[in-house]
Amino acid sequence: MDDLERMNEVITCLEQKIPLREPHRINDVFSLLIATILSQNTNNRNSSRAFHNFMKSYEIKPDVLANLKPEEIRPLIKSAGLQNIKSKRIIAISKTVLYKFSGNLNTVLKLPLQKARHTLLSLDGVGPKTADILLNFIGGRAVMPIDTNIFRVINRLNFIKGRNYEKTRLTLEKLIPSEKLQEMHLLLIQFGRKICKPRNPTCPTCPLKSICDYPKTRDDVI
Ligand code: SF4
Repeated sequence: MDDLERMNEVITCLEQKIPLREPHRINDVFSLLIATILSQNTNNRNSSRAFHNFMKSYEIKPDVLANLKPEEIRPLIKSAGLQNIKSKRIIAISKTVLYKFSGNLNTVLKLPLQKARHTLLSLDGVGPKTADILLNFIGGRAVMPIDTNIFRVINRLNFIKGRNYEKTRLTLEKLIPSEKLQEMHLLLIQFGRKICKPRNPTCPTCPLKSICDYPKTRDDVI
C-alpha cells in the first residue's frame, strides 16, 4: 500500500470513528489572531477563558488594543499564562495591523497564497501554525496547520520522520484532498489527544492499528 492509499484509509477511518468536535468558531481574522496568540504554550480551556475574559472588557479590534497598556491586558489574560509576553505581543501586533495594514488583515488573506503566508509570518509573534490557521480557517485556503499532536500521529504512522514543519505540511497537503484539510486537521488533533496519546497510546484498540507499525517497532522520534 503506498502513502496515498494509506492516507485514504486514515481519512476514512477517522471520519467514521472519531466524532468531529467543532471548535468554537471565530469568524474575524483579527480576533482569531489574538485568540491564537493567547493559545500559545497553553491548553484550549485556559486560552479560551482568557480570550472571553479579554473580550468582555475590550473590543477585539486593532485600534482599540493598540492603545492599551500591558498592565491593562495582563490581569485579563492571566489564565492563558505568559501574560507579560502575550500582553506586549498583543499590543505590538495590533499596532502593526493598524498602521501597516490599515487595521484590515482580510486583504492579506486574499493575496496569492505564498505572499499571504510570507506577509503573515512577517508579523512578530506569528509562526507557521498561526499563519496557516488564519489562512485555512478564515481565508479558506488549502493549507494544513500542523500542531504537536499531528506531528506525533503522522510520525508514528510513518508518513514522515521528524518535526520539520514545512516538510510535514507539504507532505500532508499532497496526501489529503484540499477540501478535507481543515476536517483532517481537527480529526488528527482529536485522535492524538484521545487515542494516539504522547504516553501510553491505546494501540491494542486503535482503529488504525492494521496500518501502523509503531507498536511493533516503537521507532518513535517524538
Ligand atoms: S496503533 Fe498506536 S501508534 Fe499507531 S496510530 Fe494507533 S495509537 Fe497511534
